[in-house]
Amino acid sequence: MALETETRTNALAATDVSAGRLTALADRVGCDGTETIDVRAPATDTSIGEVPDCGETDVERAVDRAREAQSSWAETPVDERREILDRFGDLVLQHRAELLDILQLETGKSRRHAVEEVLDVAMTCSYYADRGDSALGEDRRQGVFPLATTARVTYEPVGVVGAISPWNYPLTLSLTDVLPALIAGNAVVLKPDEKTPYTALALADLLERAGLPEGCFEIVTGRGATVGPALIDRVDYVSFTGSTETGRLVAEQAGRNLIDCSLELGGKNPLIVLDDADIEEAARGAVQACFANAGQLCLAAERIYVADSIADEFREAFVDATKELTLGTGFDFEDDVGSLIDGDQLERVEAHVEDARERGATVLTGGERRPDVGPFCYEPTILTDLEPEATAACEETFGPVVAVESVPNVATAIRKANDSEYGLNASVWTGNRKRGVAVAREIDCGTVCVNDAYISGWAAVDAPMGGFGDSGLGRRHGPEGIRRYLESRTVATSRIGPLDAPPGVPTAWYARGMFALTRLQRRLPTVASVKRRLRDAGL
Ligand code: NAD
Repeated sequence: MALETETRTNALAATDVSAGRLTALADRVGCDGTETIDVRAPATDTSIGEVPDCGETDVERAVDRAREAQSSWAETPVDERREILDRFGDLVLQHRAELLDILQLETGKSRRHAVEEVLDVAMTCSYYADRGDSALGEDRRQGVFPLATTARVTYEPVGVVGAISPWNYPLTLSLTDVLPALIAGNAVVLKPDEKTPYTALALADLLERAGLPEGCFEIVTGRGATVGPALIDRVDYVSFTGSTETGRLVAEQAGRNLIDCSLELGGKNPLIVLDDADIEEAARGAVQACFANAGQLCLAAERIYVADSIADEFREAFVDATKELTLGTGFDFEDDVGSLIDGDQLERVEAHVEDARERGATVLTGGERRPDVGPFCYEPTILTDLEPEATAACEETFGPVVAVESVPNVATAIRKANDSEYGLNASVWTGNRKRGVAVAREIDCGTVCVNDAYISGWAAVDAPMGGFGDSGLGRRHGPEGIRRYLESRTVATSRIGPLDAPPGVPTAWYARGMFALTRLQRRLPTVASVKRRLRDAGL
């Protein structure tokens, strides 16, 4: 593994971002108190600045500002809202260098993985600017008595959406749920993770420059345990991305408040290599699936099941490709894999690998922390012979660690892939795409990519994305990503007056008539049944 030996001591000095710029971003947060949170660069474990440690009153004020702005935002023609999103997408691309620097400063990720986030936000903007209004129109539904009655559905924004985001993809995950909320006419109050507030603040700055009215996108920085619950108690919908453990707390509180929520949570994602896979391609795909963002990716693969007949060859190719990766903390495109976020994450990864070793697992490559590269750097690690009870086999590691296991047949691979409480993302590698799709349909995950690690699933913004089981509730992206932020209102009309017994008609007669009418209606063909018949007849 090629390594960068020089550890930087001052991360900020290695970028074009000034301390003054970060202070100006922090000043965007409306906060009464004087308490602050130190934001540190994982590359050097040094401070890059401080942001306000907001309390409950600050959250209350932010939600009040958002609520005030929301009503006129909802009345702004949707074309104007689309234009603002479109301009914002342009600004994100124009200011990519600063966004990449801030992202790298806060997360320690390699620049190549930071690029994925900037591209993703620009693409998501294009999608919602172009298609966002399609979910907002009026729907005509079937009335109870066709011709005599009608039913029309209109959609309205829920009001103020609370978004809570994690540190691992702070640019993408701060915005991917915010943009559809905004296009639908909601205001949003975002609570970014305390480790990565500047990325979110830089985005708020660009949204303002794109023309988003004041108050429509508020940010409250602060501790999850304080700001999170304070926000959930005041908003009309919660969009949460983070761990399953916190997701349960969010769901409980949202349930008590009778507000809806979407939860994008953890995963223990499987990757399956079928016996007809191109081995070099599958090995390259596995490297991306397992080590993107140093494995701190909810969609990352942590379990590989490979067909017996090609297992030795695949393992060798995968280990060789992993050894080629460069580990480093540079602010250029030299390094493949960056740092972990902090000491807690490093300890978690180390504990999982140590536990695996103690239980007899073999480390095929990696398995060591690299303080010579960065204080929280850990080598991309491949394990084999991992005991099913090992922590790394049962729990999400959320680091650059994967276990490879050979399996006798496809059925076993599918059974093992599905033997998890999680169900976020999976990846299948095969020389026959049709076979890959058939296997994919057997896997209990919200997204399954065939011959790709995760990008084809994530970047298909028109398709819903989310988790089965403990990986979450609800779906982001596509029309589903907007509909969750809308209240529907059905307006039904009657052309024949009240649907009740006409005056003077005895109830028994009326009941008899209604039963006869219902029987008749059940026999008459409906539009859907005619369509089904035509389809069955091949027309
Ligand atoms: P986390 O749950 O600790 O934190 C996520 C966010 O929740 C942070 O902003 C945090 O401040 C906030 N928070 C903490 N306590 C809270 C509370 N009581 N109420 C409300 N909010 C609270 O998650 P993490 O460890 O920072 O992130 C990593 C986890 O997130 C992993 O499990 C990963 O798989 C998951 N994740 C999932 C997705 C997805 O799309 N499914 C994406 C990224 C990360």
